[in-house]
Amino acid sequence: MNTDATLIFEKSRSGRKAVSFSDYPYDGHRPFEELDQSLLREEPALLPEVSELDVLRHYTNMSQKNFGVENGFYPLGSCTMKYNPKINDEVQNFPAFKNAHPDQPASSVQGILKIYHELANHLSEISGMAETSLNPCAGAHGELTGLMIMKAYHEKNGDYKRTKVIVPDSAHGTNPASTSVAGMDVAEIESTDEGRVKLSSLKEALGDDIAGMMLTNPNTLGIFEKDICKITDMVHEAGGLMYYDGANLNAMLGKVRPGDMGFDILHLNLHKTFSTPHGGGGPGSGPVGVCEHLKEFLPSPRVRKHDGDYYLEETNAGIGRVTFHLGNVLVWIRAYAYVLTLGHENIKDIGPLATLNANYVRELLRDDYQLPISSYCMHECVFDGLKDNPHGVRTLDVAKRLIEQDMHAPTIYFPLLFKEAIMVEPTETESKETLDRFASLMKAIAKEAKDNPDVLKNAPQKTPVKRIDEVFAARKLILSYRDYLDYKKDDEALDF
Ligand SMILES: *Cc1c(COP(=O)(O)O)cnc(C)c1O
Repeated sequence: MNTDATLIFEKSRSGRKAVSFSDYPYDGHRPFEELDQSLLREEPALLPEVSELDVLRHYTNMSQKNFGVENGFYPLGSCTMKYNPKINDEVQNFPAFKNAHPDQPASSVQGILKIYHELANHLSEISGMAETSLNPCAGAHGELTGLMIMKAYHEKNGDYKRTKVIVPDSAHGTNPASTSVAGMDVAEIESTDEGRVKLSSLKEALGDDIAGMMLTNPNTLGIFEKDICKITDMVHEAGGLMYYDGANLNAMLGKVRPGDMGFDILHLNLHKTFSTPHGGGGPGSGPVGVCEHLKEFLPSPRVRKHDGDYYLEETNAGIGRVTFHLGNVLVWIRAYAYVLTLGHENIKDIGPLATLNANYVRELLRDDYQLPISSYCMHECVFDGLKDNPHGVRTLDVAKRLIEQDMHAPTIYFPLLFKEAIMVEPTETESKETLDRFASLMKAIAKEAKDNPDVLKNAPQKTPVKRIDEVFAARKLILSYRDYLDYKKDDEALDF
């Protein structure tokens, strides 16, 4: 790996460049002089001036400092970092998809609209819902869309006092956040020691001010809600709707359908379960499905089919628009390719394999790491720190040690229910050999915790960035070259 630590800005030399622009405006483009002066910068942007070769090396070296699914095992819990088949990237790269303009008339993008229509139908079938919209652009965005539908439904019934949404304390942080962005209040309920919904707390929370309940199943501990049908019945009897956070659908894909468990609204994360790489804030897609009696509330535009032609239906009947155009087209094109290449039969294997892998890891590590939950898990397993730990080695140290051995750390300190939580989601795309290697590294770390704890407390030492001072890094955020210059000016004495 290249160890040159010079920043691209430090490589900058005035006048050096990788491209040159003609002085003459070409067809249809206005020269800069014609732009409204108020739109122009007062001084040039602070950008590095470098050659093409500098740029190439900069990005290539950066990519090698990064860690992704393509570098090694990435068992980050609640994230589904599975391998995304390359063929799906190839498909979304077809020029007809990649170069389509969102304002093109529907008649010229019939193929894209057909994919929308068919994928939405496949997802409805997979999740057991009546109709699905692909418009929302992320999981949290899907949640917001779903909650707006929930609210619109109660308002249409004149039921304005239903303003509270029940969210278990083990829920993903986006659930309470979306509830509040949708203008509703969170009614948090306690979980059992095993992380399941406590039926007595649920019963207490139910009333005529409840709009509905948000639930992840399997929940964020990787545990299936055994009482799910009882839960959905209780909420329905109290007049509420059930919202399914389907970001974790990977565990159940092809086996169980949220619609059959009594859920009324759900979102899926195409960038977790359906073949779009994620992390780093790239484009996502969070389709929202609803049951029959909520179809009218879905966002606009909707893709419809008439006499073999596809068209966009703009309607004011539902909650209106939630995004630009139709959302992230290329993300759902990957999902479409993924669903079709797997087909009905193979999709059924995903959930069971993801579940088998997580339970395999759980069994391999149970002698060295504490298992706070006694029952089998679904797609992810949770440990609560080391079992035999005379030197007080923390979960953070375990994670740091792992990352210097070519494996990404699992999720740590989440869920909040356990103090030293380590959450492993191996996914179905990993082989037994990879899981065995992961387990042997984790076991070696458990041994180091007893014999040589300093190795863990100082890790990582072999990565491009070594153990950082987290408090300092959090207080002194340096996110741009300008921050860096300010920092150097303020604190000349400190070595960066
Ligand atoms: C990832 C995740 C979300 C949020 O999805 P984003 O696309 O990151 O907004 C919501 N709920 C659960 C359970 C998740 O795992």
